[in-house]
Parts: sequence; structure tokens; C-alpha cells
Amino acid sequence: MKCRFTATYYDGLERKVFRCENDAIEDGYCIFHHPDCREDSNKIIDNFKRYKFKKLSKKN
Ligand SMILES: [Zn+2]
Repeated sequence: MKCRFTATYYDGLERKVFRCENDAIEDGYCIFHHPDCREDSNKIIDNFKRYKFKKLSKKN
């Protein structure tokens, strides 16, 4: 599942939608856009580690 963060912007007069390409880790958001960790880089790292760990534990 991809991150559901989107932002609209204008390229000249053309309205465009930016979609985040990162994989979602929690609540549909990636480590960069999750509301809980957007402003706290330590949390981003923690979440990322947790995400990696989840992935690893699924494989085994
Ligand atoms: Zn994102």
C-alpha cells in the first residue's frame, strides 16, 4: 500500500496532484507523512525500524 498523502500544486496554469510514492507504514501514511512523526525525526527512524522489523518477521 502506498502513502495516501497528496498535495495539489500549479505548474503554470495547470493544476497537478502530487502523490507520495513511498510505502505506507501506518494509517495509510509513510514515515515522512504520518502525522505522528512528520516533525519528529527520531520517531521517523523508530517507525522505520519498526516497519523493517515487521517486514522481517512476516518473512520468517
Ligand atoms: Zn508519504
